[in-house]
Amino acid sequence: MNELHSNKFRRFSGKRKVVYVTYDSGIPLIGCIAFGLIDRGTNTIQIRPTSMCPLNCIFCSTDAGPNSKRRQTEYIVELEYLVDEFRRVVRYKGEYKIEAHIDTVGDPLTYPKIVDLVQELKNTKGVEVVSMQTHGYLLSEKLIDDLDDAGLDRLNLSIDSLDPELARYLSGTPTYDVEKIMDMAMYITENKRIDLLIAPVWVPSINDDEIPKIIEFALNIGAGKKWPALGIQKYIPHKRGRKPKGVRPMTWKEFYDKLRIWERKYSTKLVLSLSEDFGLHKRKMLPIKYKIGEKTIVETLTSGWQRGEVLTRGKGVSITVVRMPVIPRKGTQLAIRIIRNKHNIYIARTY
Ligand code: SF4
Repeated sequence: MNELHSNKFRRFSGKRKVVYVTYDSGIPLIGCIAFGLIDRGTNTIQIRPTSMCPLNCIFCSTDAGPNSKRRQTEYIVELEYLVDEFRRVVRYKGEYKIEAHIDTVGDPLTYPKIVDLVQELKNTKGVEVVSMQTHGYLLSEKLIDDLDDAGLDRLNLSIDSLDPELARYLSGTPTYDVEKIMDMAMYITENKRIDLLIAPVWVPSINDDEIPKIIEFALNIGAGKKWPALGIQKYIPHKRGRKPKGVRPMTWKEFYDKLRIWERKYSTKLVLSLSEDFGLHKRKMLPIKYKIGEKTIVETLTSGWQRGEVLTRGKGVSITVVRMPVIPRKGTQLAIRIIRNKHNIYIARTY
């Protein structure tokens, strides 16, 4: 197994192990939520080239960033392997109207070959849109120029507060500078073909007053030329994510009622429809390899993403085995029972 011990990724991974997922590693790119490819049975394919993140947002659903407490491993995928597998999935699903959406459990801009990745995805037969989700901490004018030239169609940029102090608090990162990220947003809308969608996470009682300001900012700078200008995200506490103290999550009704009020006030679309606004439609999904409850023998590959997890392989997919206090040696065979298989993301327990 190729593990990267260089200091190159320390500012994203803390002291955790970084596993390089190559052709030679034998780690399948379908099956694990932390890296590779996810096919949820639509024309959008999620691409996860890395799991790392430079920030420590206080509401992070995936407990990402250098200060993560639950993660034990980060992954980075070899470009050629990722692109070849992506093209295989596109051929299976049909080479037309595919959206390649780079959305990680961290921030895609930590991937050193992000520009090459965008270019390769864009040059794939059947790919109509290449989009990416980021908090923008690593953006620069040069990187934006390169992403634009490579063919990035849409950047979903999360800005959670325009107030520098509050934005820094939300990001959990003392060096986070929202004013620089706002400058990058303006640089995109003023100079580039890339369309910008501003996607704040609304954390009730913390950034309520910021959301209208962010709406005004997005509209003023001309975000949303082809797609909606805003994609406001509801804060949802996750079992294994970070939860800011004292925050009571909104109900979906409260959330949508407020979005509708702002829609009227600002004359802009805020309640989005994935099919109408993003052209999402059903498409055949890669075959499911294991049924729930199925018992099988798998081979240990390396440590899993979070503590107590082991990454294994069976029938050409990655399977995360949970509740494993000790990580067995690579190649060790484990008798497991599948407990989750939705969208070809496999979770199992030993029996
Ligand atoms: S919310 Fe996004 S940018 Fe913030 S720590 Fe999590 S993955 Fe990173």
